[in-house]
Amino acid sequence: MTIVDAPVSHLQEDPFGLAQEQLRKVADIFKIDSNLIEVLQQCKKAVVVSVPVTMDSGQVQAFEGYRVTHNIARGPSKGGIRYHPGVSLSEVKALSMWMTWKCALMNIPFGGAKGGVICDPKRLSRGELQNLTRRYTTEIINDIGPEKDIPAPDVGTDASVMAWIFDTYSMNKGHSVLGVVTGKPLNVGGSLGRLEATARGAMYSIREAIRKRDLKWDGLRVAVQGFGNVGLYLAKFAHGEGSKVTAISDSQSGVYNPNGIDIEAAIAHKQETGALAGLRGTESISNEDLLLLKCDVLAPCALEQVITADNADKVNASIICEGANGPITPAADEILYDKGVLVLPDILANAGGVVVSYFEWVQGLQEYFWKEDEVNARLNDICTRAFNETWAVHESRTVNMRNAAYGLAVQRVAEATTTRGLYP
Ligand code: GLU
Repeated sequence: MTIVDAPVSHLQEDPFGLAQEQLRKVADIFKIDSNLIEVLQQCKKAVVVSVPVTMDSGQVQAFEGYRVTHNIARGPSKGGIRYHPGVSLSEVKALSMWMTWKCALMNIPFGGAKGGVICDPKRLSRGELQNLTRRYTTEIINDIGPEKDIPAPDVGTDASVMAWIFDTYSMNKGHSVLGVVTGKPLNVGGSLGRLEATARGAMYSIREAIRKRDLKWDGLRVAVQGFGNVGLYLAKFAHGEGSKVTAISDSQSGVYNPNGIDIEAAIAHKQETGALAGLRGTESISNEDLLLLKCDVLAPCALEQVITADNADKVNASIICEGANGPITPAADEILYDKGVLVLPDILANAGGVVVSYFEWVQGLQEYFWKEDEVNARLNDICTRAFNETWAVHESRTVNMRNAAYGLAVQRVAEATTTRGLYP
């Protein structure tokens, strides 16, 4: 049996330490009771499991997996599952805390959670991926459930993975439990609009932000880092609105065209060749340089900590939309604020996914499914309201959008905690 060791992390700073630092900063600005912060700065529960899988070679490999619940004061915990070689317990804890704030900011009745398995899904066969998922689900089966903790896709997982989680859980219960997981395929209780929801929510945030900055979609220069579920659809939507998507990238490399990239052609090229590199009519650009391009909107939609104190002062964007979770470190945030860059924080800008996950959960519990237009209209309402509430705090308290969003969210969770009282 081989034990798969965690590779050296892609992150320079301890992610959970950074998430706690952000919380303390907000507690300070909004004068939140230190007794509450004592509760909120820790995760309620963290489960570490070993996930042994028989590989196609016949050899057994044991992967390490996590499921962390940060908080359930406002409802069952909610959050995705990440399959990536750089996953760590600290990263999953940080991501679970951000989910608590994200759900509170959107005012949906969930707490925050996250899961992850240290693995490289791109190097697993479909059979291996399925076995890993079913065994991981079994290991956390007592920790998840429609009233308890509801997983969803995140980096490296997709609707197929959700279908296997749904099936494994349901087989164990003896009946189909639609509400146990969201982001499912449409033919087994998924919601229309869920696939594109994170990017659609990001697009709504950008739409509101460009209004505030007197910009228009038409001709807007947009650079998108990451071509997964968020980056791909965001590039597509921005292109569809008439903006010039000047650069896009995947985990390997990026492509650039100052006059705008044909996104449909890029999607087709990526499907055919497995990469963006070599796309006709573009020159290549590195992921690092893409972040420094002169543009109106920069959307980091890949992983955490890509804009740090080392490169923040070289960023040339007017607005940054955090499609990923945690792409900007707290130190970089301050540099960007001083430069006048408008940062749309992750818990606002990429919350569209969890909002439509909420819709999917509601539809699953009721076994009554909505039309796509209805899903998108309700998503628009929630995202626009959250943007306006955040903007109002940003202006009235003269704080950046992150502190405004966190302030609103943390206060909501703190209020729920106070109302419920500390058990026992
Ligand atoms: N993983 C996504 C996020 O970070 C979606 C979570 C969900 O839908 O529960 O927001």
